[in-house]
Amino acid sequence: MRLAIPRETLPGENRVPIIPDIAKKLCRLGADVDVESGMGDSAGFSDQDYIDAGASIVTDRAALFGSADVLLRIHKPSHDEIALMKPGCIHISFLDPFNEHDLVTALKERGVTAISMEMIPRTTRSQKMDALSSQANLAGYVMVMKAASYLPRILPMMMTPAGTLKPANVFVIGAGVAGLQAIATAKRLGAKVTAFDTRPVVAEQVQSLGAKFLEIDLGETGETAGGYAKELTPEQVEMQRQAQKDVIAKSDVVITTAQVFGRKPPVLVTSDMIEGMATGSVIVDMAAETGGNVEGSVPGEVVNIAGVQLIGTGNWSSDVARDASQMYASNLFNLVEDNWDEEQKLFKVDFEDDILPGCIITHGGEVVHDTIKNLMA
Ligand code: NAD
Repeated sequence: MRLAIPRETLPGENRVPIIPDIAKKLCRLGADVDVESGMGDSAGFSDQDYIDAGASIVTDRAALFGSADVLLRIHKPSHDEIALMKPGCIHISFLDPFNEHDLVTALKERGVTAISMEMIPRTTRSQKMDALSSQANLAGYVMVMKAASYLPRILPMMMTPAGTLKPANVFVIGAGVAGLQAIATAKRLGAKVTAFDTRPVVAEQVQSLGAKFLEIDLGETGETAGGYAKELTPEQVEMQRQAQKDVIAKSDVVITTAQVFGRKPPVLVTSDMIEGMATGSVIVDMAAETGGNVEGSVPGEVVNIAGVQLIGTGNWSSDVARDASQMYASNLFNLVEDNWDEEQKLFKVDFEDDILPGCIITHGGEVVHDTIKNLMA
C-alpha cells in the first residue's frame, strides 16, 4: 500500500505531518512511503532524512496525489487536489467538516474515504491518536510564551535590593487541554493564575495546578457525554461576562480558550472589559480564527485596543513546529497502526471498529458520518 505525504501549503504552517522517525515506523509496517521533496524543510528535516528512514522522494506533486492509497496530511485538501486523487483512496487530515460542506461533497463525489482528525472520539483508547489534544497542549504553552513576550513586565515575583516586583496576574478562560497547559505554564513562570470553565469538573483540575478557580453560579451548565462543554444560553453568557469583569480588569494577561465543539466560540471578553484593563496588558485569543472569544480580535494579527495588545495570531503549535510535528506524526502513526492489516499490508476501513467510524466523513461515494450528513441535508 502506497502512503503519501505531500508538502503542507498553508502560509505560515511550519509543522509537517510525518517526521523521519515515524516514516521509518510506517515503512516497518510494510508500506511504501512516498514523501514530496521538501516536505520536511519547515520543521528542519531534509529529503535525505526521509530517504534514510526508508521513504522515497517524489518531486511531481500531481503524480504523488494520483498514486496514493493513503494521504497523510495536516490540513484539508483543496478542490484541485481532490480532483487528482485516486477514487477509493483514504485522505487523513484535519477537515473542519462542520463548516466545509463543499469539500465534503467533493470528497464524496470523488469516492475518497475522508478521515477527519478533529472527529476522533475522545475515548481512553483513542488518546494516542488525539491530535486535537496533542496540538492544543502545545498551543497552551505557546500562548503563555507569546503573552510574556508582549508584556512589558515579568511573570514571577522578584525581590531585589532595588525593590520588589509583584507577580503578574494571569486569567485563563476555558480550562480544557489548551487552557490547563496555559495555566501550568504560567504557574511554572511564577504568575498568579485564576481560571474559569463552565464544566464544573474542571475546578479540581485547575486547583491541582495551584491556580484559583473563579466560582460563577451560571445554573445548569454541565458537559456532553463526550466531555465537551454545552453551549450556554445568551443569559448565561451575559452572567459570565459580568462575573469576570473585575478579574479581567486586574489581570496583566488574559488567555481565552473557550470552545463549544462544532459551534462558534462564545464572545466572553467585550470591548468595555478591554478598556478596563491597564495599558500594556495582553490578551491572547486562541479562538480568533474561528470567530473569537474576544471582541475586536483579528485572525492572524496582533492589534492594539486602548493600549492592550490583543493577540490573535493563531496556528499556535506551528510556533513549536518540531515538537508539534513529532506529536502529530505519532497521532497519525497510531491511527494507521491501529487499522493496519498485517497480513495484507494495508489500511483496513472497518466500520465495526470502536474509533474509526466516528471520524470517517465520506466513504464509498457517500457521506457516512451521521452528524455531518444531517447538517448537510
Ligand atoms: P474544547 O477545545 O472544546 O474547549 C475548551 C474549553 O472551553 C473546554 O474546557 C470547555 O469546557 C470550555 N468552555 C466552553 N465554553 C466556555 C465558556 N463560556 N466559558 C469558559 N470556558 C468554556 O475542549 P478540549 O480542550 O478539546 O477538551 C475538553 C474536554 O474533553 C477535556 O477537558 C476532557 O474532559 C475531554 N477530553 C477527553 C479526552 C479523552 O478522554 N481521550 C481527550 C481530550 C479531551
